[in-house]
Amino acid sequence: MPVQSVYPLLEPLLPLVRKPVQYVGGELNSVVKDWDACDVRWALMYPDAYEVGLPNQGLQILYEVLNERDGVLAERTYSVWPDLEALMRGHGVPQFTVDAHRPVAEFDLLGVSFATELGYTNLLTALDLAGLPLSAADRRPGDPVVLAGGHAAFNPEPIAEFIDGAVLGDGEQAVLVISELVRAWKRAGRPGGRDGLLLDLATSGGVYVPRFYDVSYRPDGAISRVVPSRPGVPRSVAKHTVMDLDAWQYPHKPLVPLAETVHERYSVEIFRGCTRGCRFCQAGMITRPVRERSITTIGSMVAAGLSASGFSEVGLLSLSSADHSEINEIAIDLADRYEGTATGLSLPSTRVDAFNVTLANELSRGGRRSGLTFAPEGGSDRIRKVINKMVTEEDLVRTVTTAYTSGWRQVKLYFMCGLPTETDDDVLAIAALARRVIEAGRAATGRSDVRCTVSIGAFVPKPHTPFQWAGQCSHETVDARLKALGAALRADRRYGKAIGFRYHDGKPSIVEGLLSRGDRRVAKVIRAAWEDGARFDGWSETMSFERWERCAAAALADDGVDLDWYTTRERGYDEVLPWDHLDAGLERDWLWQDWQAAIDPAGAGEVEDCRWTPCFECGVCPSMDTEIEVGPTGQRLLPLTVVGNEVATANGPAAAATGAGQ
Ligand code: SF4
Repeated sequence: MPVQSVYPLLEPLLPLVRKPVQYVGGELNSVVKDWDACDVRWALMYPDAYEVGLPNQGLQILYEVLNERDGVLAERTYSVWPDLEALMRGHGVPQFTVDAHRPVAEFDLLGVSFATELGYTNLLTALDLAGLPLSAADRRPGDPVVLAGGHAAFNPEPIAEFIDGAVLGDGEQAVLVISELVRAWKRAGRPGGRDGLLLDLATSGGVYVPRFYDVSYRPDGAISRVVPSRPGVPRSVAKHTVMDLDAWQYPHKPLVPLAETVHERYSVEIFRGCTRGCRFCQAGMITRPVRERSITTIGSMVAAGLSASGFSEVGLLSLSSADHSEINEIAIDLADRYEGTATGLSLPSTRVDAFNVTLANELSRGGRRSGLTFAPEGGSDRIRKVINKMVTEEDLVRTVTTAYTSGWRQVKLYFMCGLPTETDDDVLAIAALARRVIEAGRAATGRSDVRCTVSIGAFVPKPHTPFQWAGQCSHETVDARLKALGAALRADRRYGKAIGFRYHDGKPSIVEGLLSRGDRRVAKVIRAAWEDGARFDGWSETMSFERWERCAAAALADDGVDLDWYTTRERGYDEVLPWDHLDAGLERDWLWQDWQAAIDPAGAGEVEDCRWTPCFECGVCPSMDTEIEVGPTGQRLLPLTVVGNEVATANGPAAAATGAGQ
């Protein structure tokens, strides 16, 4: 049976909803393949609105990797806003892909990329609109296999009931392995049915299939043990890691959005992983080891990506872009290449040092110097030692002053509130720091228009980090500290509008904390909140803390655990954590020692970046039989010829357009 587009049903509804263009598809570089010519079909979902989901780099990479394969197709689906959801329910329109408007239920696989746990209720909306059972155990033989990926997949236990599997780590190679297993299973006549395919994925595909693991609990509510329930299923499931990023030059045909989105630029990931060792940072920990793209690949990707998309802005992405071993050469060479053209370059790095300002100056050559962002994260030197953010107040003031004297007028400083061992004074120190920054900026430039914005949100402890054992700060304490900080920032009229203040209150972070470190029992809370109307929990206008609090109390009443138990309670070394059987490559004992070093009453111990120092034995490199992969290559992007907006280089657009290796 040919699969029909639902567009004829959808189109009459579009004039009735907000931003209808987000549902029509057909973006530059989008792909629609012949359904019948493919035997492995993926629907790829970003569980948020189009404006957030479309620019997502991870999903774009998988979309391109899969569609390049013969016999494999991938289409995208995003969360629909409640206005369209209501109309779709009323008119019997199922969850659809934006590429060919095919019903999601017709695909073999539904891959969902979770950058944050606050997208879980949007997954349930999509499943329900697709006509799929919410519980994986109830799915029928022809229903898609629902796979979770992204950072939240490193603890998928709260959504274990709703997904068939989770893929940890880098997806590029993993989706191809999974596609081959699905193809082989279909060609062999679907041996063992749905269960047979899941067993193949668990034993040969590196997929974590929750139903093949039994979880038991102790009388005090903690987990007693997690054990495989099927022969051949690994005790511990390891993450996937792409070691050679130069062999995976994606995206080279970036999607160009039809509607306004959060980013409209060509983003090239200049390296993956981070070894700075910030103790709060899940992204840094779970993406180790560091793997750099070479300067020549970056140059080729930028040229090809711009030419394929027409974007006029390039973002050099990574967790700490100024740490690339050849970032200086990359910045200078790209600035040389695009000088005098309409192409803007940016480095969304937040590292606090003068070198970062030098790079920003280079990349903004001839352009406007509006704002720079730094992330000291903690307000006092003491709390920055606790989180292993090795930057002193003197460093920060010096760096920001350098930015002001280089012509930058606006500096944004990012902080967190509610960090382990934090006191009121640590947060109030932010006000004194902001005033010092303005004073130093005024003195150095002789101008009164230097500005600084303090941006602060609540800290959420995350799995696979040294802070995974920490008690999360209550929202009452976070909100009281934020209120006191706001008052302190406004207290001195001499700084007036020079200091701005942006904050996120503490309540949503408690929900995020529940979903981040929860176990399988939390599924009941997610389902109850969704049935009660929870949608788009990452958006302040739609998130209701009171709803989640009420649903958690009711859903967990018989389990002897509650919202506080999951969030504000500190865990001990011996407690089995819900994600202990999921392997990010980090040694549990190393994480524990680092946690102990952080909270040492004699003063926190600091850990240097292992890129430039001897190994600290976190366990990642030996577990992958590798080493940190950093340059330098010693190569440059020169020589080059700038011809208007067209650029020819030794690694120019023609070479790059065919350069996607695999
Ligand atoms: S194993 Fe050593 S070198 Fe590798 S990431 Fe961990 S601390 Fe760094």
